Amino acid sequence: MLTINNVTKHYDKTEALKNISMTIPGGICYGLVGPNGAGKSTLIKMITSIIRDYEGKIEFNEQRISDKTKQKLGYVPQDIVLEENITASGNLYLFGRIYGLNGSKLAQRTKEVLTLIGLSERSKDKVSTFSGGMKRRLNIGCALMHNPELIIMDEPTVGIDPQSRQYIFQMIEELKTAGKTVIYASHYMEEVERLCDNVAFLDRGKMVENGVVSELLQQYAVPSIYIKADRISAEQLEAYGEVSQEKNAFFIYTEEALSAMENVISYCRESDIDIERLELVRPRLEDVFFRLTGSNLRD
Ligand code: ADP
Repeated sequence: MLTINNVTKHYDKTEALKNISMTIPGGICYGLVGPNGAGKSTLIKMITSIIRDYEGKIEFNEQRISDKTKQKLGYVPQDIVLEENITASGNLYLFGRIYGLNGSKLAQRTKEVLTLIGLSERSKDKVSTFSGGMKRRLNIGCALMHNPELIIMDEPTVGIDPQSRQYIFQMIEELKTAGKTVIYASHYMEEVERLCDNVAFLDRGKMVENGVVSELLQQYAVPSIYIKADRISAEQLEAYGEVSQEKNAFFIYTEEALSAMENVISYCRESDIDIERLELVRPRLEDVFFRLTGSNLRD
């Protein structure tokens, strides 16, 4: 659906993106992950043709991005762009009109979008009375008025309440069920792991890795055992895997986590060591990023 081919972007002396290539298939949620300054927003602005001056090629359904293809894209910017002094419906109407909707089609679509963003009951209230999370949901709704095929969201959950976050997650699931494609830029790795089928890791303008989330987890992340116990040392645990210490507890990394766990239990029993806490830790996307870049996303 969307192909990004060898794209490079400079802002004066800053190289914001260098030789980025990726293919985003239709009907999935594609995560764009990287620390601040990685180049996520720049890439999104290029896809939405807010930035047109760059090297390389971006194609949507095998066509260069143009005003015609732009009609099929919905962009939710990081900053909220709403009219505070008019109602939720009024804002959706405004955006619908910009995209050429009117009459009963506009009214119908406004109703559908209000349901999707969970704001039907507040449709007649002024935006100025809304919480940050509600405004963000409405902001997403505005980008959905023209029923786009591809929806691009830039950090849509920054600084919002848990309920609105859940709504946004639910909304994305519904969009996917309806066959839409979502690009989801975030530095919240747990959200990306939960929502996205594929992911691209960007770091300082470069593509670190990209692929199917479950495959990357399998390829790069090793499961581990978390153990907290009295009188136990890293040396004693090294027989069971690679050990790292976190305060007064340890992580033991091993592909054979389950059998290692049994062995650790036997060892502790035999050595009269009281285990305070023992857990099998599922590999996380955060670990993949760490393994690839040597740093945590939010360092
Ligand atoms: P992200 O969205 O991942 O935080 P950005 O795309 O905003 O990353 O930024 C990538 C790099 O480009 C950063 O080094 C940033 O300082 C720089 N940059 C972004 N926008 C501009 C701009 N308008 N002018 C100059 N430099 C910019």
